[in-house]
Amino acid sequence: MEIKYDKNSIIKILKNKKIKVTPNRFKVAFELFNCDEHPSIDELHQKLVRNNENRISFTSVYNILKLFENAELVKEILIDNKIHYDSNITPHAHFICENCGEVQDIELNKLNFLDERKLFNFKTFTEEELKNNKINSFEINFYGICGKCLKEENSEE
Ligand SMILES: [Zn+2]
Ligand SMILES: [Zn+2]
Repeated sequence: MEIKYDKNSIIKILKNKKIKVTPNRFKVAFELFNCDEHPSIDELHQKLVRNNENRISFTSVYNILKLFENAELVKEILIDNKIHYDSNITPHAHFICENCGEVQDIELNKLNFLDERKLFNFKTFTEEELKNNKINSFEINFYGICGKCLKEENSEE
């Protein structure tokens, strides 16, 4: 795991959101902000149990994630009808491998069919574009086979 956020920067992020730093909140934030993956609560809980001597309950992890979500530190995304957590809160698309389940981030500015600026301003779409609906957030998912799985597939032949 590459450490993008050290202890001090995590404490700072939580304090900026007026979240009181507790040992468990720190552990969840450290694990989540430093991983590029999009873990489900189960996966995150298992990881925390593996990496820490002190027990952390599933309910604690759940409550902390809800707290972080309300503070807009993490985003819930739905993959295969299961909620996963994303610590990258800037708008982006996802690539989901149908073989291994890996979820990768895809930057919107790399998708040249999209008018990124317009998408970022989705709250200013015209009524006609919105069909009288109101958008709060959006998700763009691509499904396929990831590079790693493709490579393995090819080497088996
Ligand atoms: Zn894969
Ligand atoms: Zn993501």
